[in-house]
Amino acid sequence: MWFFTQEEKEIQKVCRDFAQKELAPYAEKHDHDETFNLKAFRHMGDLGLLGITAHPDFGGAGLGATAATIVMEEFGKACAGSTLSYLAHSILCVNNLNNNGSQEQKQKYLPALCSGEKIGCMGMSEPEYGSDAVGMQTKAVKEGDSYSITGNKMWITNAQYADIVYLYTRTGPGKKELTSFIVEKGTPGFSVSKEIHKMGMRSSPTGELSFDKCKVPAANRVGAEGDSIVHMMKNLEMERITISGISLGIAQACLDQSVKYAGERKQFGKTLAHFQMIQKMIAEMYAETEAMRRLLYTVCYEYDHGHRSNTLASAVKLQLPKMATKIALDAIQLHGGYGYSREFPVERMMRDNKLNEIGAGTNEVMIMIIAKNLLNDALRH
Ligand SMILES: Cc1cc2nc3c(=O)[nH]c(=O)nc-3n(C[C@H](O)[C@H](O)[C@H](O)COP(=O)(O)OP(=O)(O)OC[C@H]3O[C@@H](n4cnc5c(N)ncnc54)[C@H](O)[C@@H]3O)c2cc1C
Repeated sequence: MWFFTQEEKEIQKVCRDFAQKELAPYAEKHDHDETFNLKAFRHMGDLGLLGITAHPDFGGAGLGATAATIVMEEFGKACAGSTLSYLAHSILCVNNLNNNGSQEQKQKYLPALCSGEKIGCMGMSEPEYGSDAVGMQTKAVKEGDSYSITGNKMWITNAQYADIVYLYTRTGPGKKELTSFIVEKGTPGFSVSKEIHKMGMRSSPTGELSFDKCKVPAANRVGAEGDSIVHMMKNLEMERITISGISLGIAQACLDQSVKYAGERKQFGKTLAHFQMIQKMIAEMYAETEAMRRLLYTVCYEYDHGHRSNTLASAVKLQLPKMATKIALDAIQLHGGYGYSREFPVERMMRDNKLNEIGAGTNEVMIMIIAKNLLNDALRH
């Protein structure tokens, strides 16, 4: 985009090169085998990307939503599954800790998370509380100078690989009495209780976390008791913007692949590019992708310049993943039988993108947030 800073343009180039060399060639295999590209993940740390928004004092790059979204777009074009794991680490865990942790907590945990020595995840959703995350039932009870935590967290990206969990719990009966903790792998009472198999994002590990009277030092509580609802809502805003970057990357990759295929595949003695119905598909994919790009990066720019809007972040998250699913389905259609097969990446891209209509709040939840914000006054009468 014309308004990217020099630094953001450099990040775009570094990420594009890295993604094409270290993510794209392995995406199909990791999708098929349902395995995590750990080597590439660690390498992201060497490039300074794992703490993209964290403060440089703790090993981060100190950048904003625009830079983080550029990374998501470039990685998302190559391997959306690896990008989802990157997002869970860098935005759900590291960004949250950077914004809400104490100096001591940041000093203790962020350097190893930013370098890639340690992997992070975030536990909010539960088996019975997804869209209604604020109703969560995982309880933390204070016992002397520690907390005893009991409950389960469902759908946790990076669960099987994570050394550090940024965990939301309930510390009181009130709906909003939520408190977060940093839980280290190996803490007695904490385990990964289930591995989850998925239709897409298969190179991103997903699991269920269990806490059974897990004792966590009070020093690992993030903020004061009951503070975390605000942390959660703020971080979700960043998550919704950046996850939309993955959908933008998927849409662009589907468009690129479709243009290439339309120029190669011949039917009736001509390449597909000659057929008006194919031209229409390509033209619409382009128009939709560019509309998404401009909306997303404008919202990122505003976010980075202090004009944050929960309504706009939700609107972006509602529109981009939906459009990218449509584009990916069109790309499959344009490829015919080959598009439906695993010979071309567009079917994987469609499966991967579908998650972005569910994770970080479903389309329906985005509609609820936008409608509530717009109709606030009217709903009081
Ligand atoms: C691959 C993957 C990775 C994930 N990673 C993480 C992670 O790292 N950390 C984490 O905490 N969570 C994670 N999640 C969880 C994700 O945020 C939830 O799946 C999501 O919020 C939806 O919750 P649910 O699955 O329980 O669906 P439900 O809340 O049960 O919703 C089911 C359906 O009902 C609709 N619905 C619900 N309430 C309403 C309503 N009031 N009005 C209208 N429709 C409604 C929903 O939109 C949806 O269509 C992940 C999920 C997946 C699939």
